[in-house]
Amino acid sequence: MQIDLQNIKESSNQFSDYGIMLDPTQRAWIEISGSSIKNNVSRIKESLKEGCKFMAVVKADGYGHDAKLVSKYALKGGADELGVATLQEGINLRKSGIKVPILVLGNIYNNDDLIVCFKHDLMPTISTIRDCLLCNNIGKKFHKKFRLHLKVDTGMSRLGFELNDFVDKFDQIISCEYVLVEGIYSHFASADEANALDINSFTQVQKRKFQSVLKRINVDKYPFIRNHIANSAATLLSKEMHFDMVRVGLSMYGYKPTSRSEANIVLQPALLLKSKISFIRSIDKNVGVSYGSKFISDKKTKLAVVSIGYADGISRQLSNKISLICNKKFYPQVGSITMDQLMIDIKNDQDIKVGDPVLLLGSDGDLSVSPMDWAEKSSSIAWEVLCGFKNRLPRVQVQ
Ligand SMILES: *Cc1c(COP(=O)(O)O)cnc(C)c1O
Repeated sequence: MQIDLQNIKESSNQFSDYGIMLDPTQRAWIEISGSSIKNNVSRIKESLKEGCKFMAVVKADGYGHDAKLVSKYALKGGADELGVATLQEGINLRKSGIKVPILVLGNIYNNDDLIVCFKHDLMPTISTIRDCLLCNNIGKKFHKKFRLHLKVDTGMSRLGFELNDFVDKFDQIISCEYVLVEGIYSHFASADEANALDINSFTQVQKRKFQSVLKRINVDKYPFIRNHIANSAATLLSKEMHFDMVRVGLSMYGYKPTSRSEANIVLQPALLLKSKISFIRSIDKNVGVSYGSKFISDKKTKLAVVSIGYADGISRQLSNKISLICNKKFYPQVGSITMDQLMIDIKNDQDIKVGDPVLLLGSDGDLSVSPMDWAEKSSSIAWEVLCGFKNRLPRVQVQ
């Protein structure tokens, strides 16, 4: 057979200089619905205590959804502020032109980084008097108040002042001339647990500790300070948790971390994970599939190879446990998930062809798979599933 090399060379021009396919949807990709993010934010915001602000948490590249895109639609939906984990995440949002207050939730502990934070008008989370004094010196040097949030530890044992220490130091902090305390906050450790509304639950104990520390410093004397403690679970739980602001991550992306909820809100998952079938083969009974032959056919069947694998962020722990949606039907994934590909058993369905799209996460009509389903099957949590998707998967905006 004659092969026309000239033609092959030309058709490979679909690769750009960086080796990225110009049509990002050819192999595997993530579709993000901006309007779902916007609707989720506005629905949650409507359910908040009157006057309560909404901080959209867009750390870890917007839980894998693309932080810039998520921020844009969250702000359209009525978000007042943004929360990021790192200095760099905050800088990236500022560079994209975002002007609203941005809180860095992680700890920034050295002077140079605090200066960078200040210069980009990002608010650091402060957990020690030492860091507070560093901020005061920076503000003084540049003749402008350093806006920041103070964190208190009510039971997470991660960041934050110890409670008595906080009460002792508060007068010194609030009298720092070049520091503007914009917020005081804490973080729940177990608000997604079923008992979170029970009076003696860990969540209620944390809430009471937070209230008590605010009372001890006479926080009412400082109306410009926003007090906040609620993540998504606590936000959905009850208005009692809202204080002056809520910090919502997971639910803004369309998922409810808790079944206990006073607010009856419908959320729309904003993410669809898709790939395509790259190859179809028939196998006989008793044939091993993929590494280690962890699946052996019990009858003659057909397999479809799907172009997505653990290097894209699909945990190998899910091997042999999930189903994918193709042509409005579920098909079981079989054999070990490999780095770049996985197999599904398409039985003897004749209508599935090479090139057909496959849905891994999200819904198609009545069929749906959520990150919670995957989390349960891989001893993980929805948060980890979502932010596990790698950059090899292009994020494509839909609607
Ligand atoms: C990630 C994070 C949140 C958001 O949590 P969700 O459960 O995703 O709503 C809120 N506050 C802090 C401090 C966080 O780190």
